[in-house]
Amino acid sequence: MSSVCLRHNDRETDIRCAACLRPICEECVVLGPGNSRFCSQECTDNAQKSSERFSEMTRRDQEAMQATRSAAFSRMVIWLLVLGVLGFILYVAWPHLPASLTSTVESWFEQARNLKLN
Ligand SMILES: [Zn+2]
Ligand SMILES: [Zn+2]
Repeated sequence: MSSVCLRHNDRETDIRCAACLRPICEECVVLGPGNSRFCSQECTDNAQKSSERFSEMTRRDQEAMQATRSAAFSRMVIWLLVLGVLGFILYVAWPHLPASLTSTVESWFEQARNLKLN
C-alpha cells in the first residue's frame, strides 16, 4: 500500500520515516545512522539521541551486571580461601587436639562408614 509524500501531494511513495512513520518520497529522504531513512533532520536527531540513550543504558546495565558478577565471584573466592585455611588449620592441628574431641569425630566417621556398608 503506497501513500502520498508528506511534502509532495502528487507523489506516491512506499518509504516511511523511521522515526515518525510519515510517508516521504525519495527526494525528501534524510539519511540517518545505519542508512535509516527519515523525513527530517529533526527525526534523524531524535533517532540518534534515543539510540545513544539506548546504548548508554545497555552499557550501564552491562557494567552493573559485571559488577554484581565480580562481587559474587570475589565473595566465592573469599569463602573458598576461608574454607581452605580452616581445613588446613584443622588438618595441622588435628593430632594436637584433645583425644576426647578427635575420637568423638572419628567415631562419627566410623558410624557413617558402617552405615554405608550396611
Ligand atoms: Zn519523521
Ligand atoms: Zn517528497
